[in-house]
Amino acid sequence: NHKEEQHQFSAEVERLMDLVVHALYSEREIFLRELIANSADATDRRRFEALTNEACALPATPQLRINIDKDARLLTISDDGIGMSKEEIMQNLGTIARSGTRAFEKELKDAKPEDRPNLIGQFGVGFYSAFMVADKVEVISRRAGTDEAWSWVSEGKGQYTLTQATRDTAGTTIILHIKSDADEYLESMRLENIIRKWADHIAWPIVIKQGEEEERNANEGTALWRKPRSEITDEQMDDFYRHITHLFDKPLATLLWHAEGVFEFTSLLFIPGMISPFAPVDQERKSKVRLHVRRMFITDEAEMLPAWLRFIQGIVDTEDLPLNVSREMLQNTPVLARIRKALTNRVISELQKLSEDKEKYGTFWNLFGAILKEGLWENGEHSESILKLSRFYSSTEEGLTTLPDYVSRMKDGQEAIYFLAGDSKEILSSSPQLEGFKAQGIEVLLFTDAVDAFWPDRVGKFSDKPLRSITQAKEDLEKLMGDVEYVNNEEEENLLKSLKEVLTDKVSEVRTTQRLVDSPVILAASAGGPDLQMQRLMRRNDK
Ligand code: ADP
Ligand code: MG
Repeated sequence: NHKEEQHQFSAEVERLMDLVVHALYSEREIFLRELIANSADATDRRRFEALTNEACALPATPQLRINIDKDARLLTISDDGIGMSKEEIMQNLGTIARSGTRAFEKELKDAKPEDRPNLIGQFGVGFYSAFMVADKVEVISRRAGTDEAWSWVSEGKGQYTLTQATRDTAGTTIILHIKSDADEYLESMRLENIIRKWADHIAWPIVIKQGEEEERNANEGTALWRKPRSEITDEQMDDFYRHITHLFDKPLATLLWHAEGVFEFTSLLFIPGMISPFAPVDQERKSKVRLHVRRMFITDEAEMLPAWLRFIQGIVDTEDLPLNVSREMLQNTPVLARIRKALTNRVISELQKLSEDKEKYGTFWNLFGAILKEGLWENGEHSESILKLSRFYSSTEEGLTTLPDYVSRMKDGQEAIYFLAGDSKEILSSSPQLEGFKAQGIEVLLFTDAVDAFWPDRVGKFSDKPLRSITQAKEDLEKLMGDVEYVNNEEEENLLKSLKEVLTDKVSEVRTTQRLVDSPVILAASAGGPDLQMQRLMRRNDK
């Protein structure tokens, strides 16, 4: 029979508890995420301490256990973690380590309701969210490496009591006396759903037990990406890919990357082998790569990759952010900015590697090339790389070709890279626009994606060679056709004159050309204005 000690919460804790409980009421299911996160963290810490202190060694199969006692209205969460000494309990569950109640209060007030749950983690007050669903909370904890246990009990109103207790093994048990309006948290199905949603990738097994039922595993429990590649079977990798993407094939390419250095993160990314029939990548022009912090899923809206890499799917997991960051912080933190940058560079170099496998890369290009080329529109630091990664049909080559290869085939005296943009390779191949070029043996790239009407103007050139649409009647076209000064005869001059009169509102100029071999007439775009495909697209959009 141990003596009870009464302690007051610090004024700050009290205020915070009040804020947490009231501001987050509509999202109160996240109490479970917070308690599970704490248990998982504590288990991680014990594993770490055990490296240098044998007395802290983890049991053979560490677990997070959730037990439901409906009759007594008790929900118990118990772990094999590092546990807390008496002093640590007082420190962690009685004061606020990270001061800033005011800041928290202000953020809570300014935050949209859906962002509020993410604030509590950020301010290190997750534990107190237990009081959203419980009118009384008991914590029984035994620090690993010691044999003394302590019990902390509070109704969340101003004070808590501390009593010496017993616990067979090291770890922490949290007993929630569930409020009368929170019955749902005594249903194992409900709890399982919350775990699936928020804590599926906690690396430690989470088992749920209700009454006399069998124990059930509630999480997949495999933070697969934390393992070295050699410990992951291809089958596990494919399963995870399907789980994350909701696709049913195999990934075209997989990138597991443990980034170490100034900042640490792990990423497991996939290039899918197909386009989802349910959620085409074009539906929402944003990267949906999932952000995890210490294995906990945070959001898939952090835009971890630029929109033009939105076909890449997977997860990024970092240690360098507080668990649960606010939406605002996601946008502003330099940590994420640096991760995004590193990730983008890495994906590009991965694509370069993939491009060495012609067949695979061809599949990739057919699926996602048009999206990748959207990156050219930004004409930013990656344009050169994207240009090199791009593949095009050509008027002279079989299959797909590259810009560097095109440049290596350029004729003496040819100054520009020529292209013709349109709707399909078939239509373009038989275009009269090509006649003169074919006759002279000059290669023309055939651009068949809608985005091709836009980026060449923006990018301007590749390896110092200007990109030029052959529908634009630039003088160099005529020059390339033979450099012969052609003088119209009288008959031709008269024809041009009457054509100009008839077409006066429709064209700005009518003239003879050397560009044609079989066709009598060709429509050309003026040098300064948009090229013909662009004009067609603009007309289409007007309708
Ligand atoms: P945070 O997790 O952001 O630090 P919390 O309010 O969730 O904030 O928890 C406060 C502290 O209480 C933790 O940092 C940890 O030291 C301690 N703690 C909470 N739950 C546990 C647990 N299950 N085992 C060990 N320590 C715990
Ligand atoms: Mg916490």
